[in-house]
Amino acid sequence: MPLPARGRYARGADLKTLRSIPATQRFCRTAPRPLVLVPTMGALHAGHAALIARARRLAGSGTVVVSIFVNPAQFGAGEDFGRYPRTFAADRAVCAAQGADAIFAPGSVYAADHSTWVNEEAVSVPLCGASRPGHFRGVCTVVLKLFTITQPDAAVFGQKDYQQCAVIRRMVRDLNVPVRIVTMPTVRERDGLALSSRNAYLSPEERAQAPMIRQALLAALAAWRRGVREGEKLRRLVWQTISTAPLARIDYVEVVDAATLEPAEQAARGATIAVAVFLGATRLIDNIQLR
Ligand code: AMP
Repeated sequence: MPLPARGRYARGADLKTLRSIPATQRFCRTAPRPLVLVPTMGALHAGHAALIARARRLAGSGTVVVSIFVNPAQFGAGEDFGRYPRTFAADRAVCAAQGADAIFAPGSVYAADHSTWVNEEAVSVPLCGASRPGHFRGVCTVVLKLFTITQPDAAVFGQKDYQQCAVIRRMVRDLNVPVRIVTMPTVRERDGLALSSRNAYLSPEERAQAPMIRQALLAALAAWRRGVREGEKLRRLVWQTISTAPLARIDYVEVVDAATLEPAEQAARGATIAVAVFLGATRLIDNIQLR
């Protein structure tokens, strides 16, 4: 009698860890389709878990690959690359619990003399692109490399990184990359703070003030729903609300057009308010869609 098809709940036990690019290419070439990729930098939390769960549902009896790679190319000088949390054993447990089939966790994906970069030159320019020069060049390059290594049918990203989703969609469109981009809503703490691997850096005082970011965005959404459409008014409301948190230092608050990510004078339905805020040395980002 043939063995029954391997069920989802048997998967954790079979979770493969792939450390090299050739081994990953071999695995992905013969893996059951569709293959769905979830790119991460590890230190996995419930937000990542939701992405992996979505990938599992999308893949069905196909294959879910989670990549875990703290990508040096997307960190600027003086940013937190060196101290970014690395928690592989716990990450593996999250991947297993969500039914992933394989983790791609390379030491590096760059040749010592790597010299080819992917530059998106429009939607990557404002917001985090302005604050973190070179960040999206690093993101695009590593994501395209992950795509060429694993050849996924689809890849899942979180809307918490709103601009990243827009940049990846643009890259995939412009370069005819045959990967479906799927996005997932932001998973939050009960007090509204968006889950982030960087929340672990916050002191208790900073953590206590961090929910002000979400409260400010909700205040702006409420104002928009009452009919306030002027981008500048909404922006000022968010800025002033966040500024009531004494430890907060605002990097940017922008009301942007959903398609271009350019500042919107009038916030139409679907416009987004995006913010980046330092609490102490920790930079947090969040956003809200006006609808
Ligand atoms: P990272 O490990 O921070 O590079 O994030 C990997 C993926 O997880 C990205 O697509 C993020 O947008 C997504 N992600 C991070 N935090 C959250 C969250 N709180 N909710 C949903 N997705 C998230």
